Amino acid sequence: MLKGKTAVVTGSTSGIGLGIARALAAQGANLMLNGFGEAGEIEKLRAGLAAEFKVKAAYSGADMTKPEQIREMIAGAGRELGAVDILVNNAGIQHTAPLEEFPEERWDAVIAINLSSSFHTAKAVLPQMRQRNWGRIINIASVHGLVASVQKAAYIAAKHGLVGLTKVIALETAQTRITCNAICPGWVLTPLVQKQIDARAAKEGISVERAKMDLVAEKQPSRDFATPEQIGALAVFLCSEAAAQIRGAALPIDGAWSAQ
Ligand code: NAD
Repeated sequence: MLKGKTAVVTGSTSGIGLGIARALAAQGANLMLNGFGEAGEIEKLRAGLAAEFKVKAAYSGADMTKPEQIREMIAGAGRELGAVDILVNNAGIQHTAPLEEFPEERWDAVIAINLSSSFHTAKAVLPQMRQRNWGRIINIASVHGLVASVQKAAYIAAKHGLVGLTKVIALETAQTRITCNAICPGWVLTPLVQKQIDARAAKEGISVERAKMDLVAEKQPSRDFATPEQIGALAVFLCSEAAAQIRGAALPIDGAWSAQ
């Protein structure tokens, strides 16, 4: 379905981003991967995806806190793969602390990576998409773009902001064949969440398995994690013609978390 299209997926060396990259590649999209990690591991990942799905795969180590590097990543995708058709803004970090103790430096980093980077990527790709009158911008927000929890001030501010940015882009492209939507996952078991499970186990003196069950039961009525594959499948659907009139939506995959 996406054969020959160019997809940029930020933060795709791990977790949800990797799940989305795999799902897009399975449909034939060429990939610009991005994210941090050990160089050898990333090269193995890049070459593995290219071989498994018979697509072109490139990698940019652009730091999503650095607008100049973000613009260079988009330019590099154009040079190596062709103009960007699909942009998935997925890179994200978490920091938990009560507001009074929240370090300023962590606030700035979370806002930069989880929110501002999506402004810079979208600004860089939109002219190319308009020229071709086709594009898909998919922002990986969170259920925390819709509702709040304690100790996550920066993350929740960033994700609510990302849902707002999604709506503006959708309005500004409403009469084109470019769409912009947000996906709002609840708990997905990735390294980002594993850190929160480990911290909970240590703090409460309980096993990691118990902490994992407690974490999911507390917020997610299904008591089950969503998976990177499920998020990837929704991203693929949003790229389809069937989804051409889904615009400016914030779509939860959250085991009924936000239904409460
Ligand atoms: P993860 O930690 O597994 O992956 C994060 C990715 O972002 C990695 O590839 C990492 O290298 C990259 N990254 C981090 N900082 C970066 C930077 N400065 N520049 C470039 N890349 C950077 O996390 P994940 O759980 O897969 O999260 C992916 C996205 O999904 C995030 O935006 C997160 O907020 C969102 N999300 C996750 C969950 C969940 O339960 N895991 C739920 C809702 C939303």
